[in-house]
Amino acid sequence: MAPWGLSGQLDGLRQQQLYRSRQVIDGPQGAHVNIAGTQFDNFSSNDYLALANNPEVIKAFKQAADKYGVGSGSAHLICGHSAEHHALEEELAEFTGRSRALVFSTGYMANMGAIASLVGKNDEVFQDKLNHASLIDGALISGAKFKRYPHGDLKRLGQLLAQSSSKKKLIASDGVFSMDGDEANVVELASMAQQSKSLLMIDDAHGIGVLGQRGGGLLEKLGLDQQQVPILMATLGKSLGTAGAFIAGDDALIETLIQRARSYIFTTAMPSATMAATRVSLRLCQQETWRREKLAALIAQFRRGAEQLGLQLIASTTPIQPIVLGSNQAVMLAAERLKKHNILVGAIRHPTVAKGSERLRITFSAGHTEEQVDHLLSALEGMG
Ligand SMILES: *Cc1c(COP(=O)(O)O)cnc(C)c1O
Repeated sequence: MAPWGLSGQLDGLRQQQLYRSRQVIDGPQGAHVNIAGTQFDNFSSNDYLALANNPEVIKAFKQAADKYGVGSGSAHLICGHSAEHHALEEELAEFTGRSRALVFSTGYMANMGAIASLVGKNDEVFQDKLNHASLIDGALISGAKFKRYPHGDLKRLGQLLAQSSSKKKLIASDGVFSMDGDEANVVELASMAQQSKSLLMIDDAHGIGVLGQRGGGLLEKLGLDQQQVPILMATLGKSLGTAGAFIAGDDALIETLIQRARSYIFTTAMPSATMAATRVSLRLCQQETWRREKLAALIAQFRRGAEQLGLQLIASTTPIQPIVLGSNQAVMLAAERLKKHNILVGAIRHPTVAKGSERLRITFSAGHTEEQVDHLLSALEGMG
């Protein structure tokens, strides 16, 4: 690869402390994880409801593997769409109060496929600057005009909409922002979308399971229906503890995605066992409300403690509680120090977040104990 100069570029990343490497986890996800024989308190995963290693979910996975085997064999439109995929879609539609739902293999693919199916060259997409990469990439591959507004700046969005002469307009936003943990003002977005005759798409990857009485996410919490938010996307690999994602909306939307979404059509369907496991985790998510209550208590405990330590928090009530440190060096050093206390947190750098807003991304799970949060707080003392 010498002619491409890759080694030199990699050295450059190392010098700027932007080099990324993977840690090899040995064992299941949970409030603790093992790395090379050492146990860490895990404050870095998105397994908010502690369902990724739940015995009932695992049992459903195993039973479905016995019944359906491991591989789905082909794409959904050929012969890969099983009774488990179908049943999960019906249950997700019911759960979100939408007419229908369509399961994708990943959230990344759901966002890319949905946006590119709905808008094209003569259309325009409007997005919050802090939206997830998959929403941004979906807008880019769609070929539509693409406008981004500063985080949460709906006044600016209003100006951009007013300036637009495009016939088809799509507004897309994270529901809960993945690196900040704050919530989009979806009530206002819905009303702006209605006024400007735009389509509204909300990516609730971090709200589903966590927000709302039944865990239906930000839209359940705000009481927004399919009329107000016609395109809802959420993932299965975070709160629901498995893998994949879905888009929910009306019949015409879902049928359009089945005909057009390239990331749906040209890929092998997920294993049926993953779908069967998700059906159980979806039930647990709704029934076991103690998971959301416990999570809320742990988040409150953390915020109280962090404020006492003088740490600068973001206005987030979700399990995502970042501490912005502002440089690669500071954030890498802080994560290293926490690791010495056997605590794992995400050290988030550019391009995941803007330069100067490098942060520790601390996340909570219903599987954590109060003692673990106390331990985290004492390790954070003197940082930030
Ligand atoms: C994680 C995430 C995705 C991507 O979902 P995957 O299933 O991991 O591909 C999309 N949007 C947001 C906001 C996310 O946080």
